[in-house]
Amino acid sequence: MAELEARPGAEQWVPAAAGVDELRLAAPQCRGCELWRDATQVVFSRGRASASMMLVGEQPGDREDLEGEPFVGPAGRVLADAVDAAGIPREGIYLTNAVKHFRFERRGKRRIHEKPAVGHIVACHPWLEAEFEAVDPSIVVALGATAARAVLGRPVRIGQLRGKVLLPDAAGSASALPAPILVTTHPSALLRIEDADDRAAAFTALVDDLRTAASAAV
Ligand code: SF4
Repeated sequence: MAELEARPGAEQWVPAAAGVDELRLAAPQCRGCELWRDATQVVFSRGRASASMMLVGEQPGDREDLEGEPFVGPAGRVLADAVDAAGIPREGIYLTNAVKHFRFERRGKRRIHEKPAVGHIVACHPWLEAEFEAVDPSIVVALGATAARAVLGRPVRIGQLRGKVLLPDAAGSASALPAPILVTTHPSALLRIEDADDRAAAFTALVDDLRTAASAAV
């Protein structure tokens, strides 16, 4: 039923020309889609407005929903390891998600992650746009297909774009982009790889992509 609900979008809750702190304060009031209802709290972002690299994920997970911080669960640990391995200082990174509330399905006591629908990505986009303005990053890294969809405003096949630095004018985006974009895999994908060698190779590829992004952040 939730799929059929009207989603006004976040625009009316996003303060104009706001800094990151103001955005973080305003986000809990957002009713731009129905996801706020079942989530514990909004999960906005982490990092300084002065960061040169913005990493955009999909949505908060179970842990993030409970703690109110992005990337504090298992995927966040993979990402932190990859950032360190790429030699990128953590204070130079701003972390956020395409969708700011946790979407899940209840199965007994468990809450199972459910991918956000395109309607949720669109509804939440005004927050991401406001973050682009407030942070003005030198490079945006989209982690996974949902983030890439949110950043570029169109469906994206990760395999086609992965690891390439897309300049704002040439990225084929539906809206103006704040900076070059690099699309890579979401760190949670690594958690689903059972074979240790394959997982190590995927980790190396993620690190390589982050290095490419860092060298494009001028
Ligand atoms: S997911 Fe985004 S648009 Fe929907 S209520 Fe949360 S902050 Fe607002």
